[in-house]
Amino acid sequence: MAKSKTQPFGENIKYYCKDCEKFIQGKQVGRKYVFRCPICNTKNVAFGTEKSLVNFFHLDEKKSEKEEESKSEKEEESDKK
Ligand SMILES: [Zn+2]
Repeated sequence: MAKSKTQPFGENIKYYCKDCEKFIQGKQVGRKYVFRCPICNTKNVAFGTEKSLVNFFHLDEKKSEKEEESKSEKEEESDKK
């Protein structure tokens, strides 16, 4: 029983709003493990390590898809010139 009680979770915990679809600064609601999004004010906030959130919400896949789209757009522009 030598665990420190300074923080409810580890230091690397991130909060992800499912409505905003991005990482936000979660505000704890009361004493429960419920967090509110400061942007849209919903409690639709998941929390965990960045890795677990990225895996769970497939944030990596979304990012790579967007990057590929912007890349192809640039390629088309360069072709026109
Ligand atoms: Zn939000």
